Amino acid sequence: MSLDHRLISLLVCPLCKGPLQLRRDGESRPTALVCPADRLAFPIRDGIPVMLESEAQPSEGPEGWAAPGAPPEGARMPGQAGSS
Ligand SMILES: [Zn+2]
Repeated sequence: MSLDHRLISLLVCPLCKGPLQLRRDGESRPTALVCPADRLAFPIRDGIPVMLESEAQPSEGPEGWAAPGAPPEGARMPGQAGSS
């Protein structure tokens, strides 16, 4: 593995400066860094994260999400406040 986890923790989204999530393929190889806030996936090429907005791809939907279940904070749907 060419990507050090500590390195990942140092990387932030170039747009919102938020934390990124590492996306892996079926063989646990890192394929992208995903910003949950922007729903953008920054590709990892040859082990090098490409932190360019122009290279980022939309990361909509559950497919490809490496998140272990917890929705990103601030991603709540509007109108879910309910009545109190
Ligand atoms: Zn972001």
